[in-house]
Amino acid sequence: MGGNVEILLTEGAIVTQDEDRRIIKNQDVFIKDGKIELIGKNLRENADLKINCRGKVIIPGLINLHTHSPMTLLRGYADDMLLENWLKEKIWPIESNLKAKDVYYGALLACIEMVKSGTTSFLDMYFFMDEVAKACKEVGIRGFLSPGILEFGTPEVKDVQDQMKMSKEFIDKWRGDELITPVLGPHSIYACSKDTLLEIKHISEEKDALINIHVSETRKEVVDSEKKFGMRPVEYLDGIGFLCDRVIAAHPARDKTHKRGKRCSNQHTCLRDEKRGSRFREKVWNEACGIFRWNRIPM
Ligand SMILES: [Zn+2]
Repeated sequence: MGGNVEILLTEGAIVTQDEDRRIIKNQDVFIKDGKIELIGKNLRENADLKINCRGKVIIPGLINLHTHSPMTLLRGYADDMLLENWLKEKIWPIESNLKAKDVYYGALLACIEMVKSGTTSFLDMYFFMDEVAKACKEVGIRGFLSPGILEFGTPEVKDVQDQMKMSKEFIDKWRGDELITPVLGPHSIYACSKDTLLEIKHISEEKDALINIHVSETRKEVVDSEKKFGMRPVEYLDGIGFLCDRVIAAHPARDKTHKRGKRCSNQHTCLRDEKRGSRFREKVWNEACGIFRWNRIPM
């Protein structure tokens, strides 16, 4: 829907995100030029579109903190496998055949689905990210987009130095865009060496860009890290000086570094591991949302 459409939501319960998380019942909301103009009871504004929200809630846009949006095309292709096998045997081989236009259509489908279910911003990692940006613009959703960086190459760019160069260009191209925020995307500690990670950290400082990385996604990743570095992934990343307030880590609930009383400095995380219901998860989740609310994503 175009930004110039005036919308009046009536008689809904507003779920605020203020400090007390108040819920204000039976309220009207008038939206003009894409912004909330008025909130109150019995608003009489003329609007192009009126939606009766009685019995419904009015919430801020949802933020999906971890996606690979073009993978909508691969839904159902391989399920119920260990991550490593899933990636190596199924996903990476088929992804190596994807072309830019496939990525565009996969992202377009994802963007439409997200908007339809209330998501207004998402943090994505994939390749051919200009195509994902194009899909975002077409649908009108905010994309925090990170071209994935993997030492063994992506279907778009093989050499890791070239990938980093391309990421810099991507940042320069999209910086300041109304909907697109370019982000750096080192895939993980098993796909990026220490040197690569530190170079990416340097680029993030130079360009003032966020970093999106998988951390401790599986038990295997944690065990491998302990074997190879003598540390869990979060400790390793902290030890090499990678962690900073620009880093958004996906999945780190599996990393018990926090629980052992070794909370790493400046760690900011987001979480997708829905299986772990713990205070820790909630805290991590709140931190992640906090980063976005405070600094980066307009709600
Ligand atoms: Zn992921």
